[in-house]
Amino acid sequence: MSKSDTTPAVSFKSNAPEHHRVKPEQHHRAFQVQPGHSYCRVCGAVNFHKHWYIAPAQEHALKLDKSASQTLCPGCSRVEQELFEGELILANSRFAELCGEIVALIKHTEGRCWYKNPTAKIAGATEEDGIIHVMTTTKFLAERIGKELKQAFKGNLEIKRTDTNVKVYWTD
Ligand SMILES: [Zn+2]
Repeated sequence: MSKSDTTPAVSFKSNAPEHHRVKPEQHHRAFQVQPGHSYCRVCGAVNFHKHWYIAPAQEHALKLDKSASQTLCPGCSRVEQELFEGELILANSRFAELCGEIVALIKHTEGRCWYKNPTAKIAGATEEDGIIHVMTTTKFLAERIGKELKQAFKGNLEIKRTDTNVKVYWTD
């Protein structure tokens, strides 16, 4: 059976990474929208004087403020332009069994990488014959996720680099 689908059973589409969200008690802190504040219309990340960060309370306030400008963070901008530099090929037979943990690890790694470099995002995933392909906007992010998967779940990692992109194979 051959199956090609753009909406695989697992979804890597996410809003801003959870672990960078502020703790609930911080939501009560007063926030004033100032000139220079904007937010990413895709992932909701907040921008202030070219610094990107995740802050749900600020995001919420900005979305309510009609004068606040919407923009795209560098990562979502790359996704929109389809500038994909990395591809992860998840062909490890343990994937089905560990799907939830693997997706969580991938999203967590994306969050950490985005925080250091906001051009780093997961662009999407496709499934073909049970093999998951995950596109990333930076080479570093694909390699980082591959290394984290190998460290956490063992298996074999093969990294094929060219000048413009990288393919990371995670197999048994
Ligand atoms: Zn964004």
